[in-house]
Amino acid sequence: MAKIEIDRRYCKSCGLCIGVCPKHLIRWSEEAGETGFFVEQVEEETCSGCRLCGIMCPDAAIRVYR
Ligand code: SF4
Ligand code: SF4
Repeated sequence: MAKIEIDRRYCKSCGLCIGVCPKHLIRWSEEAGETGFFVEQVEEETCSGCRLCGIMCPDAAIRVYR
């Protein structure tokens, strides 16, 4: 099992991580900051730890733990 952590201080709400997750485990949150809505992980237990979301994030806001 793996999990991700999203650091909201760096997230600029671009949504790139949502599109890149092969398991569709990242979605828009209902909470927003200065740049728009944050993202959040769903169904944490099915995350493979592939790290695609962390690699894609242009602001290094995502850490992947395996
Ligand atoms: S790719 Fe990074 S900056 Fe863009 S929405 Fe996802 S966590 Fe935020
Ligand atoms: S590590 Fe891979 S499976 Fe897990 S949330 Fe990121 S892109 Fe999706």
